Amino acid sequence: MRMHKRVALITGAGRGIGRAIAEAYGREGARVAVADLSADMASETAAAITANGGEAMAVTMDVTDEQAVNDGVAAVCERWGAVDVLVANAGIQHIDPIDQLDYADWRKVVSVHLDGAFLVTKAALQSMYASGRGGAVIYMGSVHSKEASPLKAPYVAAKHALAGLCRSVAKEGAAHGVRSNIICPGFVRTPLVEKQIPEQAQELGISEEAVVRDVMLKQTVDQEFTTLEDVAELAIHLAAFPSNALTGQSVVVSHGWHMQ
Ligand code: NAD
Repeated sequence: MRMHKRVALITGAGRGIGRAIAEAYGREGARVAVADLSADMASETAAAITANGGEAMAVTMDVTDEQAVNDGVAAVCERWGAVDVLVANAGIQHIDPIDQLDYADWRKVVSVHLDGAFLVTKAALQSMYASGRGGAVIYMGSVHSKEASPLKAPYVAAKHALAGLCRSVAKEGAAHGVRSNIICPGFVRTPLVEKQIPEQAQELGISEEAVVRDVMLKQTVDQEFTTLEDVAELAIHLAAFPSNALTGQSVVVSHGWHMQ
């Protein structure tokens, strides 16, 4: 087991990529705090981990609500002592061309990704610094932390900004044994992506098959989606890495869509 008794807090872990990481961490022996906006989905993920013999607690948390974030981190510390691993994963998408984009939609997307990541980072770092055990911070970036696509301006901007936050945490956290890295996946078939396929088809005036083939997978080396398992395996690797040698890095897992 690569994460025996390490306390991991994962946001947006009620479904999709966050859930896959939460379950993978559970299998690796971690104590998993499953945080999500949806109490039901957080509870379902936590129940799946415990049913599999792991340790988990559900935390209802809107990452853009400072009080909810602080209360959630406090509950995790009360139960298990401190946070060792943070995965800032919660995210949403919005499809619109910039000239049609409502300011409210811009702010919402940027807020969930960037403000949310800041708030959970701040609370988790306080715990990691106080425990003296150090820790690992992992951001869920995207190929859109490196490249742009049309119709996703707030998402692309926020994902680029997360790479900057990751590097800032790497600089400040080093003295406390805290590493910080960002995972940048290509398209993974989660509810977030399933929703965009018809939306993009409509905006671009093409079929849903064409969105998958000519937009989402066009630049991969093998026209394949990245899987939940691919991302979860990388998240284990980054959490379990034993030293500060691997910090401030972005790791792209995208079937070659983006090569750096
Ligand atoms: P998803 O929609 O399946 O899951 C997102 C989860 O985040 C949901 O459980 C949702 O309830 C939760 N959430 C949303 N807003 C929240 C908030 N304010 N506070 C707390 N929780 C909140 O999405 P996913 O595809 O699993 O995406 C997870 C992360 O991975 C996101 O940051 C996304 O940008 C990133 N990502 C996804 C892909 C992909 O292709 N699916 C690719 C690259 C990066």
